[in-house]
Amino acid sequence: MSASELLRATIFHTPADAFLIPDALRAHADGGVLIRDGRIVAAGDYSRVRALDREAVTTDWRGGFVIPGLIDAHIHFPQVRIIGHLGRSLLDWLESTALPEEARMSDIAYARQTARAFVHLLASHGTTTALVFGAHYASATAALFEEAAARGLRVVSGLVLSDRRLRPELHQPPDAAYRDATELIARFHGKRRLLYAVTPRFALSTSEAMLEVCQTLRREHDGLRVQSHLNENVDEVAEVRRLFPWAADYMSVYERYGLDGSGAVMAHDVWPTDAELERMAAGRTTVAHCPCSNAALGSGIFPLRRHLSAGVRFALGTDVGGGTGFGMLKEALQAYLMQRVTQDGFSLNASQLLYLATRAGAEALRLDDEIGDCQAGKAADLVYLRPEPGSALAAAVETSDDLSATLAALITLGDPGCIRDVRVEGVSVFQAVVPS
Ligand SMILES: [Zn+2]
Repeated sequence: MSASELLRATIFHTPADAFLIPDALRAHADGGVLIRDGRIVAAGDYSRVRALDREAVTTDWRGGFVIPGLIDAHIHFPQVRIIGHLGRSLLDWLESTALPEEARMSDIAYARQTARAFVHLLASHGTTTALVFGAHYASATAALFEEAAARGLRVVSGLVLSDRRLRPELHQPPDAAYRDATELIARFHGKRRLLYAVTPRFALSTSEAMLEVCQTLRREHDGLRVQSHLNENVDEVAEVRRLFPWAADYMSVYERYGLDGSGAVMAHDVWPTDAELERMAAGRTTVAHCPCSNAALGSGIFPLRRHLSAGVRFALGTDVGGGTGFGMLKEALQAYLMQRVTQDGFSLNASQLLYLATRAGAEALRLDDEIGDCQAGKAADLVYLRPEPGSALAAAVETSDDLSATLAALITLGDPGCIRDVRVEGVSVFQAVVPS
């Protein structure tokens, strides 16, 4: 038996759906997570967990917090360098800002550098799993998979498919897209901690022939995930309706090609119809809610209450570079803030925010048997955060004797500077350099 490690800290996790189960939050002020062979053996009060294994080596992180590895359900790897181009709306931003940068990924050296920076930024922000839009180029998408594998992160990604209405150099003929995607699937899907996602950019930029390719890929390979964009911006929705006159709504374009259901994650869904929500709930298509991006691009406010009422599941995504950065706690805070100021908004509590940044993402990716919380048997994907001495977070948690309030403060004030150690299957993928 290999050596066990016992992490001692305040622990928060949500082993259940925090919207369905009011007391889903598990919080242990003096907590322990026992890890053996990369798996969680037990998590709970330190004294109880200690009694399970007297030999385990304790890593004393008292004064800090351990939460499950954060899960980003929507992010674009080629957009690392364009975060913060504010003041535009989706279609205009794509043309002026995002797509020229995505075209630079044809240079494999540039793509590799970008992939390395991207993977480092995920890890250093505590994101251990991400559903990532790859590049429009197979070699650049392969570079992302390779960098993620080298770092040890869990990445679900795929070649971005488009054959119209973008810059011509980003278009692929459907048969070439099929060939390239098939090869990437053979190389990376199910290897190490990688999975492949069929990734049509959005209905606007994919012809019916390209959507057929997506359908074929999903049919030909077991366990592929699907990701795309849906109902992000009113002009985009109107244009999709014009391009697909036979479709009752945006979602029915994807449905016609079998790109819905469990394992399919649609980003945004700011402007859904009731009929779309009803069908997504029935089919278990998940939404990646990206509140920073929705605000930055002026796309609108996510109708969270309508998703909840309809029973549509959703997780959180940063949508870098339309979004404002890699921080999933910041994304959770933004979700809370936007809902607070919208008419008919939903007042999200700390437990729901943690759930959305962790377990909900695991459920969206159909990885909830493996990751998303600290239950026994799961992979030890964990983040250790510690308030900087003298910081507002330190002040907020020092005097708090209510663990829900402490978690709320951690979500509000827990910036990347607090992240000290990030583990995937018990092994550090990021450690902060802290002056001693
Ligand atoms: Zn996006």
